[in-house]
Amino acid sequence: MSRDVVELQLERVKAHLVLEPELSLIDCGYAGSVPGIQRGIAANGRDPATLRRVVITHGHPDHAGGARDLAAGGADILIHPADAERLKITWRDVVRQPSRGHVFAAMTPEPPHFHPIEDGDVLPMLGGLRVVHTPGHTPGSVCLYGERDRILFVGDVLQRRFGRVSFASRLYSDDYAAARRSVKRLAELDVKTVVFSHFTALEEGAAETLARLAREVG
Ligand SMILES: [Zn+2]
Ligand SMILES: [Zn+2]
Repeated sequence: MSRDVVELQLERVKAHLVLEPELSLIDCGYAGSVPGIQRGIAANGRDPATLRRVVITHGHPDHAGGARDLAAGGADILIHPADAERLKITWRDVVRQPSRGHVFAAMTPEPPHFHPIEDGDVLPMLGGLRVVHTPGHTPGSVCLYGERDRILFVGDVLQRRFGRVSFASRLYSDDYAAARRSVKRLAELDVKTVVFSHFTALEEGAAETLARLAREVG
């Protein structure tokens, strides 16, 4: 793990704080997570009011739920437009067209404004954090790759159940086949650390692990 990255364990999900002069956060937990995030920032000696940006790996309620409140506090919200679009979905839409994806979207308060991030964008964090669009778990799922630290934030694009790294959850992914295919791109990166949202980071054998998954995709 980069020494500039601190894990914040929120309810049932992790967010990652990037402690640089400009304070950034990767993902922001369920709606209602903001007091916990603020405590985490303060515990690291920083003023929560100075949070500059929140990068969202995907629009699921456990990753983007705090975005509206953090935006109200002045942070920029960065999210892929394909997932930002879905956050407009309300409970009324769920009633009209019930689906798991719609329920998740309705559970996630829509931020009042956002900055779209696209494949290939390089964010001013960790010496340049590159956006890798990896659709499938959700249409706008992104991974974030920091070349300097060889660190890869995968959100829910990969899991690490019982220590073994595997593809995204079949149950909770919009398009499981696409989610698997997206992993091939990750194997092309030079990675030392894989950071998950729900599991302990992988610090050993990351490159071999990504190569194994890419081979499984075929
Ligand atoms: Zn999740
Ligand atoms: Zn998810």
